[in-house]
Amino acid sequence: MTIDNADIAIVGAGPAGMAAAIEAKSSKVVVLDDQAMPGGQIWRSVEDVAARNDLHIFGKDYYRGLRFVQQFRASGIQYRQRARVIGIEDWDTGSGSDLIYLHDGKVKRLSAKRLIIATGSYERPTPFPGWTLPGVMSAGAAQIALKTTNMVPKRPFILAGQGPLFLLLASQLKAAEVPPDVILQLDDPKRIKQALLHLPAALTGTQDLLKGLFWRLKITRGIKTSVGNVINIEAHGEKQLERISWKTQNGAVGECSASTLLIHDGVVPNTQLLRAMRAPIWYDNKEAAWRPSLASIAGQMSDRPWIYAAGDVSGIGGWRAAIAMGALAGASANYTLGNGSITNSEEMRSLGRGKAIRPFLNALYPPARAFHKPANSTIICRCEEISAGEIRKAVREGAQGPNQMKAFLRCGMGPCQGRMCADKTVELITESNGAAINEVLPMRVRMPISPVTLGEMTTLDKK
Ligand SMILES: Cc1cc2nc3c(=O)[nH]c(=O)nc-3n(C[C@H](O)[C@H](O)[C@H](O)COP(=O)(O)OP(=O)(O)OC[C@H]3O[C@@H](n4cnc5c(N)ncnc54)[C@H](O)[C@@H]3O)c2cc1C
Repeated sequence: MTIDNADIAIVGAGPAGMAAAIEAKSSKVVVLDDQAMPGGQIWRSVEDVAARNDLHIFGKDYYRGLRFVQQFRASGIQYRQRARVIGIEDWDTGSGSDLIYLHDGKVKRLSAKRLIIATGSYERPTPFPGWTLPGVMSAGAAQIALKTTNMVPKRPFILAGQGPLFLLLASQLKAAEVPPDVILQLDDPKRIKQALLHLPAALTGTQDLLKGLFWRLKITRGIKTSVGNVINIEAHGEKQLERISWKTQNGAVGECSASTLLIHDGVVPNTQLLRAMRAPIWYDNKEAAWRPSLASIAGQMSDRPWIYAAGDVSGIGGWRAAIAMGALAGASANYTLGNGSITNSEEMRSLGRGKAIRPFLNALYPPARAFHKPANSTIICRCEEISAGEIRKAVREGAQGPNQMKAFLRCGMGPCQGRMCADKTVELITESNGAAINEVLPMRVRMPISPVTLGEMTTLDKK
């Protein structure tokens, strides 16, 4: 039996993972990513999109991605596509860890002296009445379909949400000549006052501000119905989505028929792998999300300095910050193995510029009011079909954290391993028992972190 080895293993071939690999290439680096090609979320399928001459749909930042992906490919770094990391072994020994991953229908092992986790983010789950109906999906899922297969949503379709990605997707759908039939804006115009306090710092990232302003001004152009200040949304249908209804802050109500509803409420760090290896994570009230506890700007984990977290997984910062963080982590991991040198000043400046706009965006777009305090009948854990009411009842009966909630209700124990319900469960617990979020332990994630068949599992070599 041969064990596959690397000096540095990187999970994720997005901006952060690719930058880390390029920076560390004087060591033996292996990059694993579950997508079919490098690029991560922002530059998903960029090589295919370029081949079908559709780059213009996705904007200037997407063009930049093509160059970066080409640079990554040209660097000769070992890159394994469609390789989904489902677990990590020996994460606590300090003498190297093993990534367990699914690739070509087999479960394989990769031993590495250093690990860089660059798994990015996912969209904040949005529980509301009817969100589990077929036809309701996240806006990011629609963007993925557009990038990978040029598929567009079935009409009539509604785009509802808030934040930069919501505005970007609206502009991309228009560029693809499939503008939404209805746009529902879930943001709160009153937040602009708080956000303006952070404007001076945000000016360092002027290009991002201008880009956002441009999308914002154009969002309603050419759209038949656009409603602002929406505080409540419901999806209705027997077996699939047929209709949606909404309510605005000033009491106005509306409804329309719908085949597709795309929802977006910002993104949160994808900490599943870190949680699975019991890495310390904490709740950042400003970002309204859990993020890892880091010991250094290079992204070293606070309790295990041979493991790094870079890019959006370490705190949402966008692609420029992700590249800077990846480069810092790659250089640092490489240096600790006796290779290369560390000259971080350019990356630090770039990280500062990339993150400058975040406090402004965090103040402008806190989690949407439409998903606060879900009604008792709203499903929270989709895999196990557990409602908000059942979670509240379990808190009254003594479940003090999401890990006890598993024993009470199996909440978070389905195939998604809590990706969709963990954060909302903690929120409901604190809403019911008055604790602060950081007093409640985050939901633990068990390996494998995503489903794998027994047949696939039997292909894993023991050490
Ligand atoms: C759905 C979605 C769409 C987005 N679209 C845009 C956009 O159009 N424009 C924009 O500016 N920003 C977009 N963002 C934000 C964007 O992700 C960040 O700006 C930036 O790309 C973060 O880079 P990253 O390298 O940290 O992570 P990512 O780009 O997210 O890359 C992480 C990579 O890790 C892979 N991965 C995750 N878990 C595993 C695992 N267990 N095993 C193997 N591989 C794994 C992912 O598939 C992905 O390829 C999007 C975010 C999301 C969630």
